[in-house]
Amino acid sequence: MEIACLDLEGVLVPEIWIAFAEATGIESLRATTRDIPDYDVLMKQRLRILDEHGLKLSDIQAVIATLKPLDGAVEFVAWLRERFQVVILSDTFYEFSQPLMRQLGFPTLLCHRLITDESGRVVNYELRQKDPKRQSVIALKSLYYRVIAAGDSYNDTTMLAEAHAGILFHAPDNVIREFPQFPAVHTFDALKQEFLKASNRTLEL
Ligand SMILES: [Mg+2]
Repeated sequence: MEIACLDLEGVLVPEIWIAFAEATGIESLRATTRDIPDYDVLMKQRLRILDEHGLKLSDIQAVIATLKPLDGAVEFVAWLRERFQVVILSDTFYEFSQPLMRQLGFPTLLCHRLITDESGRVVNYELRQKDPKRQSVIALKSLYYRVIAAGDSYNDTTMLAEAHAGILFHAPDNVIREFPQFPAVHTFDALKQEFLKASNRTLEL
């Protein structure tokens, strides 16, 4: 039995914080796990910046509501779901994901949760667990699934390493250089081919 694990932002949908940085013009909100590998450090910085600018959860949700999946992502997810069970493993938050997941047909999503106060200010966040993407792969392996995973960034690399097969998709050059053990592709057609190659079944494109 095989299962496909996909990262969300940068793979299927735009980077939400970058889109929000562009919408608000706040340059310092552009940082992602590509720039700051420690997610906790990155999130504390984001929450501080939101507070400094008096921005609330509803301001971020208003921007997310305007976003669309990356070109080809909807078709890719449909293709993958015909061939594999699919789980999205993301470091995003359920409070952000709804409009984008609707456009992707609501595949299963394991991610985190934001904590807001009564005014809608984001006061904290709750990570589901430490190293969540890798732990999810470990859990799926304990159910005797063979796991094929794809992601674009530092926060995906422990997931890719734990999986039976890991694929870098849309990864920046520095990640590709640091993790030469993973095949790196940049189009959904090439990603389909990598999933077919990684599968231990005979699948048709
Ligand atoms: Mg990503």
